[in-house]
Amino acid sequence: MSAKLIKGTEVREEILEEITSEVAQIKERHGVVPGLVTILVGENPASMSYVTLKIKTAHRVGFKEIQDSQPADMTEGDLLNLIERYNNDDSINGILVQLPLPKHMNEKKILNAIDPDKDVDGFHPINVGRLMIGGDEVRFPPCTPAGIQELIVRSGVETSGAEVVVVGRSNIVGKPIANMMLQKGDGANSTVTVVHTRTKNMDQHCKRADILIVAAGVPGLVKPEWIKPGACVIDVGVNRVGEKISEKTGKKIAILKGDVDFEAAKEVAGCITPVPGGVGPMTITMLMKNTLKSLKFKLGIA
Ligand code: NAP
Repeated sequence: MSAKLIKGTEVREEILEEITSEVAQIKERHGVVPGLVTILVGENPASMSYVTLKIKTAHRVGFKEIQDSQPADMTEGDLLNLIERYNNDDSINGILVQLPLPKHMNEKKILNAIDPDKDVDGFHPINVGRLMIGGDEVRFPPCTPAGIQELIVRSGVETSGAEVVVVGRSNIVGKPIANMMLQKGDGANSTVTVVHTRTKNMDQHCKRADILIVAAGVPGLVKPEWIKPGACVIDVGVNRVGEKISEKTGKKIAILKGDVDFEAAKEVAGCITPVPGGVGPMTITMLMKNTLKSLKFKLGIA
């Protein structure tokens, strides 16, 4: 059996189209578009290319986008003042501070300074709490977990009553997606188990999963014999395992591998995300969705 591929690149296009048409409607009815600011401190090459992609996507869907690049030696106080300025700027609905920050800055203090109603990354403790409560309380689900849930739902996989096993308990993927899948509501209502490095018999937990979500950062960790036949496998892992020359550009690019032994797993699973091209494209997409949602909350139409 060969599993159905869940293509994040295709789902991304679908969602970006939906956002674009909603932005156009809001512009027509209310005369405003979502405003997103990306603050980049320093010149970390990976951060710069990530930010470029965010800006390109924001323009594509019709947002007002501000890229605010600051020098690496900016003081923490100056960054806090800058955030406060955007907190008070009515045309800005989403504030994003690109991580990692230079070592002389306290990341937690910086992220906590963002107005929770503009925290489209969903990392502010208030938004983490809202997510935990669930239902109407939720404002901005963190982007990668939100992307995972969209992929599952849009693939037509039944989540209600499903056994979901999450490998990994990080604050940005494992814990939030576990929390989201157990909430009462559509695309959730699952029975959730979270496994990590101290878990005994991890293979047996994974084997029970109707939906297996793997976010460990260990290439090829999940073996085909850990997968229940027909299960939905979401591989969040992005691991650089080497370099190659791109056929398209002739430039050196990273060889990426997921946390699941993909070639063997696709013979057992019912559906599976590839790496790259699975969960990866969903993160920026969901950032756009959160920014649109932020404007909708402000307009009272969410
Ligand atoms: P993380 O903070 O390093 O957390 C990894 C988690 O996996 C930890 O909870 C760890 O357990 C667990 N783990 C590690 N090795 C394990 C093993 N051998 N057996 C069982 N559990 C194990 O990583 P993360 O930020 O969640 O990211 C995970 C992966 O997803 C990475 O490859 C990352 O690049 C990728 N990622 C992709 C996207 C995207 O596509 N947009 C976004 C975010 C992350 P302990 O807690 O016990 O240490």
